[in-house]
This record gives sequence, C-alpha cells and structure tokens, in this order.
Amino acid sequence: MTDSDVMNSIDLRSDTVTQPSSAMRDVMRDAPVGDDVYVEDPTIIALESYAANLLGKEAAIFAPSGTQSNLLGLLAHCQRGDEYIVGSNAHTFRYEGGGAAVLGSIQPHSIPMDQQGCMSLEDIRGAVKPDDIHFACSKVVCLENTHAGTPLPAGYVPQVRQLCDEFSLALHLDGARLFNAAVAQNVSPAVIAEHFDSVSICLSKGLGAPVGSLLVGRADLIKSARRWRKVLGGGMRQGGIIAAGGLHALTHHVDHLVLDHQRADRVARVLQSKFGAGAVRLATNMIHLNLPPANYEKLALWLADSGIKVGRPRWVFHRDIDDNAEAKLCDRISGFNAS
Ligand SMILES: *Cc1c(COP(=O)(O)O)cnc(C)c1O
Repeated sequence: MTDSDVMNSIDLRSDTVTQPSSAMRDVMRDAPVGDDVYVEDPTIIALESYAANLLGKEAAIFAPSGTQSNLLGLLAHCQRGDEYIVGSNAHTFRYEGGGAAVLGSIQPHSIPMDQQGCMSLEDIRGAVKPDDIHFACSKVVCLENTHAGTPLPAGYVPQVRQLCDEFSLALHLDGARLFNAAVAQNVSPAVIAEHFDSVSICLSKGLGAPVGSLLVGRADLIKSARRWRKVLGGGMRQGGIIAAGGLHALTHHVDHLVLDHQRADRVARVLQSKFGAGAVRLATNMIHLNLPPANYEKLALWLADSGIKVGRPRWVFHRDIDDNAEAKLCDRISGFNAS
C-alpha cells in the first residue's frame, strides 16, 4: 500500500486504525526525551501530569497499551488470591487474555452486564465475598465507559461507588473511550473519572495517537503501578517520542470526537432508511448493525468492492473518515441491493 492508498482507504473496523497527522509527526520528531525508567523523560512527565490534571487525579503513568494500563490498575489494587468483579462482556474480562489471572493471580468474578455497560447493584453485592478462608478476597469492581460505544448512564457510577465504600472495595474504570463519553454527555473528563480510584485511558483509539495509554489515580497507586510496569517489561526509555503523539492527541483531538459522533449519526440514518430502524443502533462513534448474517456478509462484500473495510457488524468512526469518505460510504450503502 502506498501512502495515498492509506489516505484514501475507508476503514471502519476500529478507531485504532488512524494514521498520525503530519502535525503529530512533527511534535513526535522534535520531542525532548530522556530515560523514563529513571523518570527523566520530560515529554512523558508532561503527558502524565497533563492527564492526571485533566482527570482530576493525583498522578498518572504512561503505558504501551490499554491492556497493560488496565492490568497495572488491577495489579496495584490486588494481591495474589484477590478478586475483581467485572461485567461478562467487559474488555478487562474478555479481551485481555486473562492477564489478571495469568500474570497477577487475580481471579475475575464476572457477572451479567446490560447493553449500557451496567451490572445490577444486586449482582455486584451478591458477588462480594465475606471474609472467609474459603473465598478469594474481593478487592475491586471494574466498570467500562464507553461500553461498545455506549456511555454509562449518569447516576449509575455514584451508586456503585456507594456499594464499593460499603465493602471497602476499590473502583476501577476502563476508560479506553472515556473522552467519547465526556463529549457525548457534554461533561468534563474529570466528571467521568470522578468516583473512581483508578482510570485507564487510551490515546490510540479515537484520539488518534499511534501508541499509548495511561493509568491515572492516587499517587500511591501509581507508584505501585510503576513497579508493576517495569515487571511487565513496559518500562520504556526515550518513550517521549511516542508520548509526544499522545500529548498532542489529548491537547488537540478531544473536541474532534463530537464530529465522529455526528458522522456516525448521519450514516446510521442512511442505514436505517435501507434496513429499518430496528437493525441499526447508534452509540457515540459506533454503529451496531443487526442484520441476518448472510445479508451482512453480502453488504460487507459490496462495500469491500469499493475499498470500504468493515469487520464485525460494529462500524467505528474516527478522525480518518472525512466528508469525502462519508459521502462515498453513504452512496455505496444506498446502492446496495439487499434482496
Ligand atoms: C481498546 C480497548 C482497551 C485497550 O486495548 P489495547 O489495544 O490494549 O490498547 C481496553 N478497553 C476497551 C474497552 C477497549 O476498547
């Protein structure tokens, strides 16, 4: 693929597929760097303090991926033989290779979650173990915001926090797309992060940085996470080169997310007029399609024929889908013959 193929491609498989902009590449090239294992990389230090401030927490640590920053959070909260309570469709349960169990000897207790990402308070309460030698020690509840694009409903998190306080549990947020939730609900990122002891955010999703995540929280937790990051092999040296892209994303790209949401909304309407309202669910920057598998397969091939990539029936909008791409996509959808 040439550069122009990349630029002209329409890829809705994920918001992780974005290319760094030339402004971002410029700041990455010019970033002041140092050895971050000695905590001497000025760009990483700047990114960590910017993120901590933005989320209203004491400290932050830069990690190579969201999988690692979630794991750092769990490792900082738990000891061997402890347990976290998590929704059965949550990324930290299903999509992280069982890392907490594999690497931390931390047992997940998964309970059902609804389409909005909520576990019922009764289920959470029922999952908390009494202090008894038969049981793992319940230590943390994990939530996710957004969950498959859907922001947690306002008012839910304070209720979970209250439950956690009742049982002295910590509360962790997988906020891979926290900024999509903030933009969609028109609140500051700190409001979304409020009530959580630790929050993981991704710079490499809709924010458009090539690499990187952060774990944000109390200073003592982040200190412990720093030890674990080294253990996991995530201590990077002149990592400021990549952190610069992340800092640029946090300072320049948050506001753009609303445009991704608006674009997804317009495309969802086109899909609805083709397939019916019941087949299409919009969730911030994502569209979930509910079509018979054979029809979806046919649609995916029809789109692929004009260079439009879709994976699962979950289409994700991001910075590299521009007005031209949207127009081409909508045209192609309109020309699809479903029968
Ligand atoms: C992408 C994502 C992560 C982290 O994934 P990495 O690819 O490891 O950065 C965590 N949680 C959710 C909900 C995600 O979408």
